[in-house]
Amino acid sequence: MKREAEDTEELEDARTEIDRVDTELLRMLAERMELVRKVGEVKGRSAEAALLDPERERSILAKWTKTAEAAGLSGHFAGRILREILAHSRRTQEAHLDPDRAAGAGARTLRVGYQGEPGAYSELAAAKLFATRNSGTTEREGFRTFAATIDALHQERIDYALLPIENSIAGGIADVNRLLVDSGLMIVDEEVWEVEHVLAALPGAELAAIARVRSHAAALAQCGVFLRRLRDVVVEPWFDTAGAAESVARAGDTRIAAIASEEAAAAHGLVVLERNIADEDRNVTRFILIGREEELPPRSVPAKTSLLVLLDHSEGALARCLAAFEHESINLTRIESRPQPRTPWQYLFFIDVEGHRLDESLERALAKARSGCNLLRVLGTYPMRTKQPAHLDVGVSLPEGDGPPSEPAPVACTVTPAGSLTAMQEGRTRTIIDVGGVRIGGDRFTLISGPCAVESREQILEAAGMVRKRGAVMLRGGAFKPRSSPYSFQGLGHEGLALLREAGRAFELPVVTEVLRIEDIPAVVAAADVVQVGARNMQNFALLRELGRISRPVLLKRGMSSTVKELLMAAEYIMAGGNQQVILCERGIRTFETSTRNTLDLGAVAVLKACTHLPVIVDPSHAAGVRHLVVPLALAAAAVGADGLIVEAHPHPEEALCDKEQALTGEDLDRLVRGLVPILASQGRTM
Ligand code: PEP
Ligand code: MN
Repeated sequence: MKREAEDTEELEDARTEIDRVDTELLRMLAERMELVRKVGEVKGRSAEAALLDPERERSILAKWTKTAEAAGLSGHFAGRILREILAHSRRTQEAHLDPDRAAGAGARTLRVGYQGEPGAYSELAAAKLFATRNSGTTEREGFRTFAATIDALHQERIDYALLPIENSIAGGIADVNRLLVDSGLMIVDEEVWEVEHVLAALPGAELAAIARVRSHAAALAQCGVFLRRLRDVVVEPWFDTAGAAESVARAGDTRIAAIASEEAAAAHGLVVLERNIADEDRNVTRFILIGREEELPPRSVPAKTSLLVLLDHSEGALARCLAAFEHESINLTRIESRPQPRTPWQYLFFIDVEGHRLDESLERALAKARSGCNLLRVLGTYPMRTKQPAHLDVGVSLPEGDGPPSEPAPVACTVTPAGSLTAMQEGRTRTIIDVGGVRIGGDRFTLISGPCAVESREQILEAAGMVRKRGAVMLRGGAFKPRSSPYSFQGLGHEGLALLREAGRAFELPVVTEVLRIEDIPAVVAAADVVQVGARNMQNFALLRELGRISRPVLLKRGMSSTVKELLMAAEYIMAGGNQQVILCERGIRTFETSTRNTLDLGAVAVLKACTHLPVIVDPSHAAGVRHLVVPLALAAAAVGADGLIVEAHPHPEEALCDKEQALTGEDLDRLVRGLVPILASQGRTM
């Protein structure tokens, strides 16, 4: 009894302390924002000052991570917090760069309309956007439909409408596109919201007893796997997620649940039964802020411009229109075609480009494009909120080099038959493969690392944190292991896939894992960002053909007794099926030499770089077989021009269930990165 009372008291004391620390954190954050505003004011007075100062942000991040680690915190965790703070700060400063907004700040209450009930994702996004857009007060009003929201804007009952325009899973929202066409309204801003669905019900409810689940049809569709697991529940489409939460609260029945945001659940007094219930890891919706007048952002803010285009019905009209932007090196971020209801089989195009309407290059491109279109209307120029500044992506920063580029001179190549898909041809650009924002190929050097096999939840999480901290941008780990002996550890299979995905998510690392059998492709594709074909399967043509039909990049390892030509023909199998995203990997071959596990054929890397446009990476681990040889071989691979490395590393190599002799430790990875820095700098490349 006494012990229990003491425990309760101790717990309460600790909680009071936590509350005190939280209050202090917020006070300090407010103090930081005040200083950010001051900097914004100064930047606002100078015409030159750019909003984004990548050098300064990079150095703040590096220092912050170091200080956090010295204090015993995870550098990754601390870094995520800082990235949020920096993003919010940048937006706060934006208001100061705009003389109109700075002058009008706080002058009047702005009214923003959205579709849905309070607590709907649209309202959350509106609150987020106006937290920095407007320093005065904002009133938010929900409307039943998109059209009703737009009507209210026309009738000046609201100042702005915030409507969803596209979702990362479901795609474009046709109704909203249509409403923009004949409205004369302008896009004045955008916002992105990361949707996080929860299953919520009245207090006292139990997951096993839930009989009915209500939500917006889109949300129900996004949680299909979870709902099927619940067996025998009746699914009820509702007009809105927050509305579904409200109806569950009103029904007073603990057997009914809603899928909604955690915020909406809390607003209606519901408790969360389960989090992370969506099928896909990331579910992001982009909203546009629509106003009656154009509102051009200041020129120093990275901006985007939306266009509405109607092409004449002639051959090559679309290509000519797009070429106008290409000619000015303007990047397109979206192109969507919508039917024209009154003229079947004629299409309207919604095109977003990077840049400000008043940029000279964009003005030139628009003039040129206009001459070939039946209609080209600028729907608005507004601050771009969809891009994380690339300089904050990676924790390791390398000195810029001005040495010779690594690009080999074009040579006559005998290993790739003319006209083959893998061949580097004159005028062809090198393939750069984008894996969830990580680019493989080009002038980037990619470090992939992780254990040989996923062994347990603790092991893979610890490994992910360890390699991420050392500059790896992708996590490896085998779930299905091709072992020489049937008695060795064969991998955790499907459980391993789930653990790998969890670890990748926790540390924001895309993941790569091997597939052994055709029947496992769907599960591996669902869990992995890159699918690996191991050395033992390089000529499994049936498997290669199937991988030609998937949309994930394939990491193809060279077979241990295959020639370079055979490796390229294996890649050809995948590419012939349509999938052009092949990463070639040299991992050592069998020769008469037995002092290394395999003979790392760096000559082959040089040949491949000259003969193909595909990215080429090196696995020094399976070539070396022993730890002390891995780093020197890895450095040699960088020197010869490889686009990256896949290296085995383990938080406790002595305990590894697979390939423990060759697993690097965290310190080994540090040595590797230190060695890579001058080599890459001399080639004009970065990590
Ligand atoms: C691996 O990468 O885990 C592996 C088994 O490699 P390889 O296929 O090159 O032997
Ligand atoms: Mn291995």
